[in-house]
Amino acid sequence: MTDTRPAASRDLSDQLRHPVPHLFVYAFAIVPALALFAAVPLAWGRGLSWLDAGMALGLYAISMLGVTVGFHRYFTHGSFKANRALRIALAVAGSLAVQGPVRHWVADHRRHHAYADAEGDPHSPWRYGTSPAALVRGFWHAHMGWIFDRSLTDQRRFTPDLLADPDLDRVHRAFSVITIAGLFGPALVGGLVTGTWWGAFTAFFWAGLVRTAVSHHVAWSTNSICHLVGERPWRSRDRSTNVWLLAIPSMGESWHNLHHADPTSARHGVGRGEIDISAGTIRLFEKLGWATDVKWPTQRRLARITAGR
Ligand SMILES: [Zn+2]
Ligand SMILES: [Zn+2]
Repeated sequence: MTDTRPAASRDLSDQLRHPVPHLFVYAFAIVPALALFAAVPLAWGRGLSWLDAGMALGLYAISMLGVTVGFHRYFTHGSFKANRALRIALAVAGSLAVQGPVRHWVADHRRHHAYADAEGDPHSPWRYGTSPAALVRGFWHAHMGWIFDRSLTDQRRFTPDLLADPDLDRVHRAFSVITIAGLFGPALVGGLVTGTWWGAFTAFFWAGLVRTAVSHHVAWSTNSICHLVGERPWRSRDRSTNVWLLAIPSMGESWHNLHHADPTSARHGVGRGEIDISAGTIRLFEKLGWATDVKWPTQRRLARITAGR
C-alpha cells in the first residue's frame, strides 16, 4: 500500500521504530505520576489535609490556565482579544506557574514556532539527531535541559507588542514577588487555619512545591513528549504530535499537532472527544463579554490543515 501521508509524518514514523526512546518517554511520563498518586493515601491525615489538597488543585488550575489561556493562546498567538482586567489577570495567573516572566515565556515560545524542530528552536527533542541515544539526550534537552541555558530570546525581535504595554511591564517586573506569593501564600493560609507550624509546612509542601513541580513537568511535556511520540492527524511542518494521555492535566495543550498546524486557533482539541479545558475557559470568558474576536476552528480552517490533501 502506498503511504499517502505527508513527508514529515512518514519521516517521524521511521524514527518511532526505536523502542528505547519510546520506553524512556513512557517511563518518565508515567512512573513519577504513579509514585505521586501513591504518596497521597500514605500522607493523608498526617502530612496532607483537605485544605492542602484544595489549595494545591486550585492553584494548579489557576496557574496552568494562566499559562495555557494567557501566556500561550492569548499573549503568544493572539487567538482572542481580552479586556484590560482579563489581560492583567491572565498575566498574573500565568506568572504563578513559575515558568518565567511573561515576556521571556512568550519570546521563547514564538521562537519555538518560528523554528519548530529546526535550527533555532529553543527546545526540540530532535536537536541531537535521530539515533536512540540522540533522542534520549534530545528528550532531556526539550523537557528541561534547555531551561539551564542562560541565553535569553531577544524580546525586541519577538515581543515588541508586549514591550509596549505598561500594564504587562509591571506584571513582568513583579515576577519574583508573584512567585513568592504563590509559594508561601498557601503556607500562610495553612498556618492561620490550623494554628500550627506543621499546617503551614504541609500547605507549603503540597500547594507550593508539589503543585509547581507537577505543573512544570506537565507543561514541559508539551515541548518534549508532544514533539516525539503520539498521533499526527494534522499537517504541520514540524514533528508536533497529539497525546491524549496529557489532555486533562495540560488543559488541552497536548493536542499539540493541531496547534502547530493552526497556531492561532483558540481550540486545540478539535476532534471528537478531544477535551480542551483551556478552550472551555475561553468560551466562558467570551460569554461573560471579557474576551472577543475569538478565533474558533471552522471547517475552512480545518480543511487547510487536513493531512494527506
Ligand atoms: Zn511545539
Ligand atoms: Zn504555541
